[in-house]
Amino acid sequence: MTMQKQRTTSRTGSTAGTGPAAAVRLADVSVRFRSKKRDVTAIGDVSLDVAPGEFVAIVGPSGCGKSTLLKLVAGLLTASSGEVLLGGEQVTGPRHDIGYVFQRAALLEWRSALRNILLQAEIRHMEPASARERVDDLIRMTGLTGFEDAYPHELSGGLAQRAATALALIGDAPLLLADEPTTGLDRDLVERTVDELRRHTDEGRALLIITHDLAAAERIADRVAVMYAGRIVEIADAAPFFGAPGPRHPYARGLLDALPERDFAPIPGMPPELGALPDGCAFAARCAYADARCTDERPAFASDLACHHAPTGRTHPLKEAADA
Ligand code: SF4
Repeated sequence: MTMQKQRTTSRTGSTAGTGPAAAVRLADVSVRFRSKKRDVTAIGDVSLDVAPGEFVAIVGPSGCGKSTLLKLVAGLLTASSGEVLLGGEQVTGPRHDIGYVFQRAALLEWRSALRNILLQAEIRHMEPASARERVDDLIRMTGLTGFEDAYPHELSGGLAQRAATALALIGDAPLLLADEPTTGLDRDLVERTVDELRRHTDEGRALLIITHDLAAAERIADRVAVMYAGRIVEIADAAPFFGAPGPRHPYARGLLDALPERDFAPIPGMPPELGALPDGCAFAARCAYADARCTDERPAFASDLACHHAPTGRTHPLKEAADA
């Protein structure tokens, strides 16, 4: 059964602007570097707001810049241009007021799972009795019961990931970043973990999650941001994205069509390398609706979509392209 999504605050727009401070604001952010004598744009002109109490899932192929985007928000990377703001404050370095669930569990090898989590409580100056109560709750929630005294090398990948999730949740930080937090978990634990993350959001905290697990995103996200080749190509409310009318961008549509429970039809070809992006739309070589404009001109991100065949009125972009 799908968990009830309860948004406690209204969301802000997808692009940076005026209004109350977003929990996270990315305003025209790019990350560029030089590798093997090539200029690489790991992130290009990304704008995204996440409101307090909002759960945004970032989806896209491996290597499209999702983890880079999360590291920017955490202050572990610096933007080449644009602004990254948390609660209206510019991010200038690593932040200690966020919870971060890493792709690979970051646990201290010489401390048991329980003592790893308790250490976080100490670092966050939690009162010992309430910290212990909260840790016990998190151990139950993440399915770590029975493994409290195990050391990281004694934990399977899935168990270590559960400990990492508990560790990030312990301080009830106002912002939680999660990079593939359900990797290696069985379905039951995936649902328990994402439901706990959802509860964290329903208490007014913001959550930005990277996931390949579209079923998990559908279960708990308020909005979905789709990335391709270093750019956000679509932002949509989760309900219409996963239901009707569905995604608007051809890549996003292909992503859902590839699911076994849908058409099970993978998108042909591979994404371009970030160091060798074409002049036009990065998806053009794989897109059934590409035309000359697509190959010549990179589509701007406007109205939550980066596609030359944006809808006009009630017309769907794919239908419009097919009819052209
Ligand atoms: S801009 Fe053109 S090639 Fe790119 S996704 Fe839209 S229709 Fe396809």
